Amino acid sequence: MDKNVTHWISGAPFTGQAQRRGDVHDPATGEVARTVDFATESEVDAAVAAARAAFPAWRDTPLSKRTAVLFRFRELLHEHREELARIISAEHGKVFSDALGEVSRGLEVVEFACGIPHLLKGGYSENVSTRVDAYSILQPLGVVAAVSPFNFPAMVPMWMFPVAIACGNTFVLKPSEKDPSTAVRLAELWTQAGLPDGVFNVVHGDKAAVDGILEHDDVKAVSFVGSTPIARYIYETAAANGKRVQALGGAKNHMVVLPDADLDVAADAAVSAGFGSAGERCMAISALVAVGPIADDLLERIRARVAKLRVGPGDDERSEMGPLISRAHRDSVASYLESGVREGATLAIDGRVHPVHGGGSDGFWLGPSLLDNVTTDMSCYTDEIFGPVLSMLRVSDYDEALRLVNDNPYGNGTAVFTNDGGAARRFQNEVEVGMVGINVPIPVPMAYYSFGGWKQSMFGDSHAHGTEGVHFYTRTKAVTARWPEPNPERSGVNLGF
Ligand code: NAD
Repeated sequence: MDKNVTHWISGAPFTGQAQRRGDVHDPATGEVARTVDFATESEVDAAVAAARAAFPAWRDTPLSKRTAVLFRFRELLHEHREELARIISAEHGKVFSDALGEVSRGLEVVEFACGIPHLLKGGYSENVSTRVDAYSILQPLGVVAAVSPFNFPAMVPMWMFPVAIACGNTFVLKPSEKDPSTAVRLAELWTQAGLPDGVFNVVHGDKAAVDGILEHDDVKAVSFVGSTPIARYIYETAAANGKRVQALGGAKNHMVVLPDADLDVAADAAVSAGFGSAGERCMAISALVAVGPIADDLLERIRARVAKLRVGPGDDERSEMGPLISRAHRDSVASYLESGVREGATLAIDGRVHPVHGGGSDGFWLGPSLLDNVTTDMSCYTDEIFGPVLSMLRVSDYDEALRLVNDNPYGNGTAVFTNDGGAARRFQNEVEVGMVGINVPIPVPMAYYSFGGWKQSMFGDSHAHGTEGVHFYTRTKAVTARWPEPNPERSGVNLGF
């Protein structure tokens, strides 16, 4: 990886005139590993201009040729998946196997997009009136952009760009400045796959680059994934500038464990979904809701599992959990252990004393933690912590558990653990959350379904990928056609509607 990461415009690195740069860390050592250029308005303009210039030819490229590029890109991703996972792990900190999983989930969206000819079929109605036919066609929007978060530098952009590009749009990606290298490697692979220059571009940076996109007249749609305050800002600003927008925000995902659940299965799931990727997943379980008399038993089973978790650098294959993304974020996550206790919770598992195997003493480490007896007024419950901290809430029955989940302002994911099919079915029907797991702790939809939360976890009305993704990246044109009979005498003026 280069010592300085720069933009990718028109199929080649674009150095520009960076007046500002950011540091990219190795989270396992805390050292600055490289820097990244921050785009000014002129670099955003250059990327959008390249995408705009590439659009007419790309939208008119036959579907079979477009999909041929997608199939080649799919093969290259598959071939380079370990290399991509190593890049992700080095900058994000997540363990290699987890990074590999992220690449695979992104690759599934590329595979979905390979089927675009079927998805772009419009409708046709013959004889809607005498000799009149009506039909609809799906057309791309033009230049579309995405702004993505640090926690999935490959998968989240791949929720968006394979579908957008397959639909005939051209694309500008602004990845997280905390782990920017994966996006550039993906751009190189697109070029190698034969994607015409300018169809996929990357600009790096922070708010200035994002605002450049939000205010650009030539950007027709914006996809965003990140925290809720920024998602709301993106939604409002992009919409005020006349753009189509989907803005996916933060989360507080509840796992409800009913009294009849298999507690070993539930404990395995809580530990996997709470501490995988150091809790830095938008679908991570952060609130564990124990229903009825099972809480003490469940806690002891979790404690036994957490004691065996190996925390260490992402490139050590024995590590199960890596460091957090930054020192500031690690400190913010750890502060909830103190505030939780201050506000009346019990610190049942303290991740600050969990052993770390390898890495540097300045790495952004924090082991898995669990706060018990959490109530809904505590900041460890009201805030999205986004780290390896489980908050356990004790409730007496199903109705109280459901009320708790539905009263929470977020609605990204949730899971219920039970052996009672009737209870699970009721939960699936009554819960006000976009993605639901039944004995599945992280119910991330497959690529051919769509990903998105409800309430404060999503602003906009089209979820990502699947048919909703196709809907987001196309607009429908309805055509009504009458072909004259070969007899001109049948024509005539008619002022009726
Ligand atoms: P973030 O909101 O800080 O940043 C996301 C993107 O927005 C980055 O590219 C960043 O450069 C940009 N950005 C940051 N501040 C900005 C500002 N003031 N104006 C304009 N752009 C700005 O999020 P993050 O810390 O990178 O990622 C973690 C968050 O993302 C968590 O809240 C997590 O729940 C959320 N997330 C949600 C989903 C989902 O599907 N709902 C998926 C992944 C992550």
